[in-house]
Amino acid sequence: MSHSNEAPLTPEGVREPLHLIDCSPLLSQSSGASAPIPHFSVASDSGGERISAQAQLRADRTNRGVRIVGSATGVQEGLCARCLAPARASLQATLDEEIVEERFATGEAERFGPGNSVDLGRLAIEGLDLVRQLVLHCDPPCPERCERCGAAHPVADCPQHEVDPRLAVLGRLLPPVEGEPKREG
Ligand SMILES: [Zn+2]
Ligand SMILES: [Zn+2]
Repeated sequence: MSHSNEAPLTPEGVREPLHLIDCSPLLSQSSGASAPIPHFSVASDSGGERISAQAQLRADRTNRGVRIVGSATGVQEGLCARCLAPARASLQATLDEEIVEERFATGEAERFGPGNSVDLGRLAIEGLDLVRQLVLHCDPPCPERCERCGAAHPVADCPQHEVDPRLAVLGRLLPPVEGEPKREG
């Protein structure tokens, strides 16, 4: 198996910033200071689906860094798993994330990016990604698809309940084989 025709993979963890803010002004203040963040919109595509978000956030200075608090609302757009028509679902998430300065950071703590930046767009998208629909369906729901023929009726109502009708017609055209009991039906 060769990967020679594929574009080089993006190094893990390196992603395009979606909506960066510079936290330097807030970091220069003492713990307890707070800064409103102008509302913003952001969108991200993954796995054939798109999440678009509007975020209402505030930044609070903590003794280790900055805490981002607020909410994100948005829409997940993709294809209905049943009928493949475009489908969408509303999403809402509460965000509460502390970004800590490197000198205070331990383990998995969220750290600032270059220049004390924080990707609020990524935070909002990731918050909504946690509550996304694992399987999208039409809303209101589209008719259930028949497991036997794929038409828009429940399998219990399928006209093809016994034999494929095309095969049944062929069966009647064939002369009865000698010795074999004549088919009823
Ligand atoms: Zn559907
Ligand atoms: Zn059917």
